[in-house]
Amino acid sequence: MSSGMTVEQARELLLQNVKVMDVEQVDLLDALGRVLAQDMESDIDVAPFDNSAMDGFAVRAADLSGASEAHPVRVKVIEHIAAGDAPEITVGPGEASRIMTGAPMPAGADAVVMVEYSSVIEGDGATGSLVALSREVTAGENVRLQGEEVRAGDVVVAGGDVLGPAGIGLLASTGHGRVPVFRRPRVAVLSTGSELVEVDQVPGPGKIRNSNSYSVSAQVIAAGGVPVRMEVVRDDMQATREAFTRAAENSDFIVTTGGVSVGDFDYVKPVLKELGELMYCKVTMRPGNPQTMGVINGVPFFGLPGNPTSTYVGFEMFVRPAIRHMTGHTKLDRPVVSARLTHDVRKKPDRRYFMRGIVSRGQDGLEVLLAGSQSSALLTAAHRGNCFVVLPEGEREFAAGQIVNCMRLDMDEGIEL
Ligand code: AMP
Ligand code: MG
Repeated sequence: MSSGMTVEQARELLLQNVKVMDVEQVDLLDALGRVLAQDMESDIDVAPFDNSAMDGFAVRAADLSGASEAHPVRVKVIEHIAAGDAPEITVGPGEASRIMTGAPMPAGADAVVMVEYSSVIEGDGATGSLVALSREVTAGENVRLQGEEVRAGDVVVAGGDVLGPAGIGLLASTGHGRVPVFRRPRVAVLSTGSELVEVDQVPGPGKIRNSNSYSVSAQVIAAGGVPVRMEVVRDDMQATREAFTRAAENSDFIVTTGGVSVGDFDYVKPVLKELGELMYCKVTMRPGNPQTMGVINGVPFFGLPGNPTSTYVGFEMFVRPAIRHMTGHTKLDRPVVSARLTHDVRKKPDRRYFMRGIVSRGQDGLEVLLAGSQSSALLTAAHRGNCFVVLPEGEREFAAGQIVNCMRLDMDEGIEL
């Protein structure tokens, strides 16, 4: 039987040991996807002035009372106002200014008649012309008001908000070329294993390529951190000691892969105990029972198991929420959907399983199938899959047709379904 903490306990303990990062000022575009660290106020009213929502004629609404196609009202065009112009002439009774979308409303006018409801009686339709307008308007119609989006001094985007393209646009319209966001943590990525060679090498006898370094670094980037890929750590006590010490000096979070099992050359746990504190080293889950957490010199440490899919699942379940917390995010849970299993699944009852599945819409709602071999040594199912099929502790058999929970890896945290 395996032992260890539940996934929830393990995650909670890790989250208690990571802090939200300090704040840095970044160029506006570099803030995309990040969490704004404080309320941002507008320096001006947006829109800065009342302006036309349409191309047409700025009029006094009262003048057009009763206007229709059968009974158009004639007005004299006194000014031609383009976007970017400052109007100079007040619109009086029986007058109108030809106006373009976004151009400031002239004094005297209180509505805009769309150009589609006009016909030129005399002249070219611009200043000096006589125009017939065939539509009534109410005061304020087709006019966008000053300060409609935000008033000078008001908060335009709140601290804690995640910045998407629209938030970036609001900050741009209110004068914020640089904005405060939570710093991305530098995450040291260390792979342990004397069998590991670099990606550009062809592995010799007994060797394999260090794929975890890349998959984990990619997960770090996807979670909003900055990976610092370090050299492979040989399975050697002193080499492990030196590597961990260096990692703790240069990073905000340390992730290792491999070396946390009960193998004869697994040095991660003894070195973690020696240099810092080991808080747990087993979680009742599969794949990846020996998930290992601790702290070295105040730097949180997470030891993922070496098998590529154990690494992948452990990162997703523990390290990703930790990095999101560090970057100021408060939504840490991926959406979970119910789906119908398309085939029987058996498991051992001792642990919770996170199987790599493909969830899709079937005839009777969502259905899920396993995405390929569930061996923790193989990554293809994780590559093909879009979810973890979460099968609880205590259960053994799941029949085709049974409803199971699927954690959506293709949807961001905080999406409500
Ligand atoms: P370990 O947890 O160190 O016993 O490793 C478990 C399995 O994962 C072994 O088959 C290792 O060869 C493999 N493994 C460990 N580290 C890596 C790595 N960085 N990339 C790919 N496979 C790895
Ligand atoms: Mg190893």
